[in-house]
Order: sequence, then C-alpha cells, then structure tokens
Amino acid sequence: MKTVLFYGPQNIKIEEKEVPKAGPGEVVVKNKVALTCGTDVKMYMRGHPLWVPPFLFGHEAAGIVVEVGEGVESFKVGDRIVAHNSAPCNKCYYCKRGQHSMCENILFNFGAFAEYQKIPKEIVEQNMFKIPDSISYEDAALLEPLSCVVYGIDEIGISLGDTVVINGAGPIGLMFVRLAYFRGAKVIVTDISEERLNLAHELGAAFTINVAKVEDQVKAVKELREDKRGVDVAIEAVGLPEVWEKLFVWLGKVEEFCYLGGQKVEVL
Ligand SMILES: [Zn+2]
Ligand SMILES: [Zn+2]
Repeated sequence: MKTVLFYGPQNIKIEEKEVPKAGPGEVVVKNKVALTCGTDVKMYMRGHPLWVPPFLFGHEAAGIVVEVGEGVESFKVGDRIVAHNSAPCNKCYYCKRGQHSMCENILFNFGAFAEYQKIPKEIVEQNMFKIPDSISYEDAALLEPLSCVVYGIDEIGISLGDTVVINGAGPIGLMFVRLAYFRGAKVIVTDISEERLNLAHELGAAFTINVAKVEDQVKAVKELREDKRGVDVAIEAVGLPEVWEKLFVWLGKVEEFCYLGGQKVEVL
C-alpha cells in the first residue's frame, strides 16, 4: 500500500509499505477519505514537539473495515467507520476528573494519509463509530473537528437568547455557528472572506461583519445589540494571538486592556 511518512518540517514522502495486520482488539481500515486539518498544516510547516520523525501522517479519515483482530465484537469486515485519532487512559488524574482531552497518557494514532490504517484497541473500544447510511465518508471524516466544537459548546454553556460573537468562519468557526444557533443564540460572525460569511449566514448567523471593511471592530459588534453592550460569549476560531486579545473587549465589561499571563496588555 501507499502511505505518507513525515520526515521533518516540509519533508514528507509517499512510500510503499506492507498493509498492517490487526492484532488482538485491533481493526484495519481501508481509508476512503482523509482530511487535512489545521494541525497537519502546522505539523508540516514546523514539526511537532511530541513526536520524533519519521512517523505516519494525517489523523482525520473515514473508511471501511477490512480486518478485525481477535476479540473484536463491535465491528465486522465491511462496516463503514470513522475513528478518532486518540483515546484516553481513563486512569490518570485528568481522566478521573472527566477531562479526557488532558489525559496524561493519551494514545494517539496517525496514518490517515495511507491506503490502509491500523486502529489500536483503545480507540476501537472507546472512540470508533459506525457511519449511518445517511452520512457520507466525506462528512463522517469531520468527526474529530466536530467533536472539539461540541466539547467547546458544552464547556461554554450558551443560553437561549445569548449574543455570541464567533471570530473566524473557517470550518471550526462555521461548526460553532451552527451549534450556537441550535442553542438559541444570536450569532455574530466576523471574517475577511465574503464567501465564508455567506456560508455563516446560511448556517444560522444573524449578523456577519467583514472585518477588512470596518474601522472599529469593537463598535461594529456592540452596535448589533440594542443595549450596545458587549457580547455574552466570544469564541476565537482563527488561531492568532492578536485576535484572542480583541475578544476581551467584545465581552461586556472589559474595555481597552486586559491581563494576559499577569501582564497588562493594551488591546486595539
Ligand atoms: Zn484534526
Ligand atoms: Zn488519562
């Protein structure tokens, strides 16, 4: 089979490898779709502090089961599946607090950019799912980013009628738009792409602001509330520190500065 291996920043190679074999509890999947996540791009550009190359690349995929190992009962050959790229240990301090994403022994699985991929026992048991007939491989492969957004929405605790600003209308931002809309929020979305802002509207945004076209972004957001207050919830889905800082002034009572890491920081 063909697989992508990461050798270092901006150095990936497609190589021929043996199709993996399923050990006890494991499953081998023929990938039908693999997505490129923002993390893949960052890893490609600058490597990753946790893993030493060469390693298998890619972590968002959906496919069909071609082999099940001894003891696997929940899946069979031919099942359409999507598997997360990690599984928690369920034993460490954070797992016991229910903060599984912080797990100290978290197990990662890479190899989405390959014809076949082995799914470890821990993931098969906890984080692998059959894809309903009504969902395509393309949509199912979005499970990992979607799950991050579902977790984020749960943590935020949006209430009916809240005003929520979502900064950035990329895939993650747009998922936040849809879920915040379902929670009954009045959603404001900012971005610099008209195309993405139009999509945000379709997914439930009440207002969109093209930040490239307004001078005072804070005022533009506050104007959208009758009482001219800031928003109740601000979500950052861009990934730039200067945008994180801006979020503070969109929130109700904070004005021209905020404290980051104990330092007073002027914003805007
Ligand atoms: Zn991802
Ligand atoms: Zn753990």
